[in-house]
Amino acid sequence: MKRVFSSEIAIDAWQVKNLLEVAGIDCVVKNADMSSAFGEVPFVEVMPEVWVTSPADYEEALDIVDEYLYGEDDDRPDWRCSKCRERNDAAFAVCWNCQTPARTDPLSDSGSDPGSAS
Ligand SMILES: [Zn+2]
Repeated sequence: MKRVFSSEIAIDAWQVKNLLEVAGIDCVVKNADMSSAFGEVPFVEVMPEVWVTSPADYEEALDIVDEYLYGEDDDRPDWRCSKCRERNDAAFAVCWNCQTPARTDPLSDSGSDPGSAS
């Protein structure tokens, strides 16, 4: 596995994970869910990280991360969440507030996300 992103802000890691998954890249978030993943570990300062599982996806993943971090000057308009009405940056694949996808892709059959905590 290769690390493509780290942030002090857990939601950034989850946004990146969502962006990668939308692009069809398998990835995992580490250190962003300490309460369940590290139940007995004392609260330590760890940075949420996103890792791609396949090295072949590394370069594409970096491009996506780059777009997430620096893509604010592109021409895509912001979008408004259909569920909670919050305004989202165009780079966000899901609502930052309630995780509702920006748009549904009928070709995607990954309906259940085993990594999501409801
Ligand atoms: Zn929302």
